[in-house]
Parts: sequence; C-alpha cells; structure tokens
Amino acid sequence: TDAPEVLGVGRLTTGYGAEPVLHAVDLRVRQGEMVALLGANGAGKSTLMRTLAGLHRPVEGGIHLQGVELGPLRAEQIVARGLVLVPEGRQVFPELSVLDNIRLGAFLHPEGREARVEEMLQRFPRLRERLHQRAGLLSGGEQQMLAIARALMSRPRVLLLDEPSLGLAPKVIEELFASLARLRDESMTLVLVDQMAALALSLADRAYVLEGGRVVAQGTAAEIAANDALTRAYLGGG
Ligand code: ATP
Repeated sequence: TDAPEVLGVGRLTTGYGAEPVLHAVDLRVRQGEMVALLGANGAGKSTLMRTLAGLHRPVEGGIHLQGVELGPLRAEQIVARGLVLVPEGRQVFPELSVLDNIRLGAFLHPEGREARVEEMLQRFPRLRERLHQRAGLLSGGEQQMLAIARALMSRPRVLLLDEPSLGLAPKVIEELFASLARLRDESMTLVLVDQMAALALSLADRAYVLEGGRVVAQGTAAEIAANDALTRAYLGGG
C-alpha cells in the first residue's frame, strides 16, 4: 500500500545482559496495516513488543511513532502518543469489576468515556454479561477480550498484541481472531505476535520472521505463508 508509515524501528538492539537478544531489528508498519511477528520461542518477539512499549530499554537504534522518537519516553508517555501494548498474559486487574477495568483504559482520555464503554460492550458482548463481576473470575478468553477493550479505550493509533491466543480453547481463539479481523477491517493499525502462525498470517497484510533476535524473513503474509521452508523451520503450531 502507499499509506504513510506510522511506526518505524531502525537497527534496534537490546538485551538483558551482555548478550543482545535483538540484533539490529528493522521494522516498518504503515497506517491501517496488520503486521504479524512470527518466530520460535525465544526468538525475541516479546522483547521487541516490550521495547516498543517502553517497558524495556533499547541499547541501540531508534523507534519512531509518526516521526516522534520514542526512545527517551516513559511507558505512559508512549501510551499517550498512541502506541498501546496488550501484554502476554492479559494482565487485567483481577479485583476490579469488568466495567472498572474498561473504564481504567480511558484514564488519558476521559471525555466521552461512557459512550466508548458502550462501544466496547457492543464489540465484546460477552463482557456485557459479566459487567459487574470481578475480572479475575472471567475465563481466559474473556480476560483477553477485556484486556483488548481496555487498550482500545486509550485510543491507540497502533495496537500491539502479544500472544493473545495463548492458553485459549480453539473455539475461543476463533472468536478472538474474528474480533481482530474486525479491528483490521476498521483500519486499526495492528502488530500481532501469536504462535498460531497460520491464523495470524490469514489475517495479516505483512509478516516478519525473527530467529535468534534477527529478522530472517519478511514479506506479504501470502509470501511468508507460501514459503514451505520458512513455515517448517519457524512457524509450527497452527
Ligand atoms: P516466547 O514466545 O517464548 O515468549 P519470544 O520470541 O517472545 O519467545 P522473548 O520472550 O523475547 O522471546 O525472549 C528472547 C530471549 O530473551 C530468550 O532467550 C529469553 O530467555 C530472554 N529473556 C526474555 N526475558 C528476559 C528477562 N527478563 N531477563 C533475561 N532474559 C530474558
């Protein structure tokens, strides 16, 4: 497409000790695109997502969101700029109600909050049925929907989803991916890490494959899906 680039990662290197976990990673995401990040366990996908969100520091390289360098910003400033992570493991507030969890997502943009809560309940009808229950009592799939609803309340320009299908039953995964397809169809810009590689590729526009912290392949989702060597080597699991 010729949509403008919204997120750019240039030669990003980082790690947890002396050894880098990401090596000079380059990534481009255009407005309205859905990009899948694929790779085996330990390839560095979560580290990349956490670094984009400001939860982990780059050692070298840059991250730009609509031309603004995110490197020096704190995580909450990055959220305010519109880059919002739904982390692996969902991380809802278990003691708070579903409704209060959704409302919390609006802390930066309280105007029109209740109308947007209503939008989220239309988007995720299961959450309406559970509105006044403690979030900790929800099923895994419901917690994932809640985590996404909370993230959407903060009005992301780019939504990062780290392993949303992890631990969910096949039927629930289907429902979850239908919600992601809808967000894509609404032109939300999405970056998706998921071990359900075939499913992720069926929705994504483009994909990057990471191995050992390096980008070893990139292309349209169709190109990556059609590459047998690649799918055998790195993509297993669906
Ligand atoms: P997975 O699907 O297993 O989460 P991943 O592709 O997301 O894999 P990362 O979680 O980013 O990979 O891990 C990349 C490498 O960094 C691994 O070798 C991992 O052991 C290491 N690592 C991740 N988090 C930490 C941490 N907090 N401290 C030290 N090493 C870490």
